Amino acid sequence: MYNCYMDLNQAKKEIEKLRKEIDYHNYRYYVLNQPVITDYEYDKLYRRLQELEKQFPELITPDSPTQRIGGEPLTEFKTVRHKIKMLSLDNTYSMDEVRDFDQRVKKTSGRAVKYEVSLKVDGVAVTLIYEGGRFVLGATRGDGTFGDDITRNLRTIRSIPLRLLTDDKELLDIEVRGEVFLPRRAFEQLNREREERGETGFANPRNAAAGTLKLLDPEEVARRGLDIFIHTIPEKPGPHYNSHYKTLKKLGEIGFRVIPYLKLCPTLNDVFDYIKEWEKKRARLEYGVDGLVIKVDEFEVRERLGYTIKSPRWAIAYKYPAAQAITQLEDIQVQVGRTGRITPVAILKPVSLSGTTISRATLHNEDEIRRKDIRIGDFVIIEKGGEVIPKVVGVVKERRKGNEKIFHFPELCPVCKEPIVRLPDEADWRCINSSCPAQLKGAIRHFASRQAMDIKGLGDVLINQLVDKDIIKSIDDIYKLDIDTLSSLERMGKKSAHNLCNAIEKSKDKEFVRVLYGLGIPNIGLNGSALLVNYFGSIDEMINAKFEDFMEIDGIGEVVAASLINYFNNSRNLKLINNLKKIGLKFSVEQPIKASAYLKGRRFVFTGELDSMTRDQAQELVRKLGAQFSSSVSKNTDYVVVGKNPGSKYEKAKRLGVKIIDEKQFLSLIKKGRI
Ligand SMILES: [Zn+2]
Repeated sequence: MYNCYMDLNQAKKEIEKLRKEIDYHNYRYYVLNQPVITDYEYDKLYRRLQELEKQFPELITPDSPTQRIGGEPLTEFKTVRHKIKMLSLDNTYSMDEVRDFDQRVKKTSGRAVKYEVSLKVDGVAVTLIYEGGRFVLGATRGDGTFGDDITRNLRTIRSIPLRLLTDDKELLDIEVRGEVFLPRRAFEQLNREREERGETGFANPRNAAAGTLKLLDPEEVARRGLDIFIHTIPEKPGPHYNSHYKTLKKLGEIGFRVIPYLKLCPTLNDVFDYIKEWEKKRARLEYGVDGLVIKVDEFEVRERLGYTIKSPRWAIAYKYPAAQAITQLEDIQVQVGRTGRITPVAILKPVSLSGTTISRATLHNEDEIRRKDIRIGDFVIIEKGGEVIPKVVGVVKERRKGNEKIFHFPELCPVCKEPIVRLPDEADWRCINSSCPAQLKGAIRHFASRQAMDIKGLGDVLINQLVDKDIIKSIDDIYKLDIDTLSSLERMGKKSAHNLCNAIEKSKDKEFVRVLYGLGIPNIGLNGSALLVNYFGSIDEMINAKFEDFMEIDGIGEVVAASLINYFNNSRNLKLINNLKKIGLKFSVEQPIKASAYLKGRRFVFTGELDSMTRDQAQELVRKLGAQFSSSVSKNTDYVVVGKNPGSKYEKAKRLGVKIIDEKQFLSLIKKGRI
């Protein structure tokens, strides 16, 4: 290939050209939603760039489109001082106060001013700093003076340009501010996934966005689908830009996703019209909007107006009153979710709230009911905010008659009548009976899912029929299904029945880690399962383990350990495991590798070839055991593992006096924890 003859300079030129093209197409795709090339063409450009960067790693720069997501998870965020303070805006719910604001502005500026009006998106405020047209720092608001450096998390948001599409000198070194948010659909998807894993969902998209930005692992952030709207340039960028509105429009052309529906209003009446226009319309947007922000447009007028200690004098946020209604709480019922989570639901006397009739609302959990002292028969205030489901926000205690009843959380699952449990540090009660019909369906769905046993053809409709007709009473009944039973069901032909039986049979070969994950133990995901399998090697060892034993494992915390203890203490779960064992599912790994406490945190370096495994496998093994590996030898290295044809690392290890071991000693070390 001609690459072989490419010199560094040629590569540099081509890389630069590719990056420019990819940046442009990213902008067309993620910011404008108007791609001009096909995904296939895009992938080709992207792969070519990756290829060149692999050949010339010295040419990789952090602003390359290939480098959006990367690096090891952080242990904590750095604190940064804001160059320009991030003040919050004055809030009001009253049109009169907006009028007062306008009069103050006019008085100080001595003339009529134009207002730039934008949607107030319910998200998390961030600031982005560009130097020489490159994204160099992103931070949270924090206390307004100091914020967290969340640059790596922000880089994963595709609508944030890593490099600006401009040569305009006034725009290369700028600070811009915006609101990071989670679109409703991404929010619902995220909560669904959390629910499936047995975790508590986020209350609203804003909490979810804030929680996501605080994650230390950028890869996880990237998966969540955050987005951003840029709405502020805190400083006038240069002499050519005096209108904030026009500057924002310009930012929209050089790569930023600027807040949509931005409007320049010449008079206060135009502002009021716009407020009215969005009161109802905002419900149709893909993100939460709780008001409008009204800002003086000209930078010069802004300077004249200045700041109070808390906020700028040239801006105000008008907030729409949250849609609230008062109605009577007729009953509190509890429902069992797919993972056994038991949630209280308010049954309400139907009431109309922003266009829909509400008869149910969430009460979150037991503590919430107690904290708000909500009693059956109370008149309650319900609210529909950024949340998808309306919630009870409080009680009108003045309307109590004395016959309201205090709600007691049930001790038994409403469906299977087994005792329910509440784990330490958890707000939710759970039914942990794996044969509970309410969660049996969810449990089967999880067991059959792609990441677990991967039983194709066992879908929702079929699962519902099988459980409702009592054909499946426990997960192991899946393995009793036969073609006759299956083909007798609605919408089930002989062929699909046959295919399903094959898929079920095939699932018996799944490795232990999939089986363990498939059991659906609350709080145990695929990663947790892998940690457990590597540490214990078999389910019997896990069943016999104590709380402290689980805590020994790096990556397993108290919540997870408690969840495991609870699960294995339930005789029904043990019976299920036994039945699945008899069917022939794998409940151990052939060569259990037991991590010794000794290995935890040790640093390994490999040089030369190993006989029994590849370098990658060896490194993976080391990682799984809680040890670390690095590519170069230093005095912090604990072991240098030397295989055939070792390189210079061997010499360096000798020079530094680092312990050198051969492959046999390495294997002994990882299996027995000693050489
Ligand atoms: Zn139950």
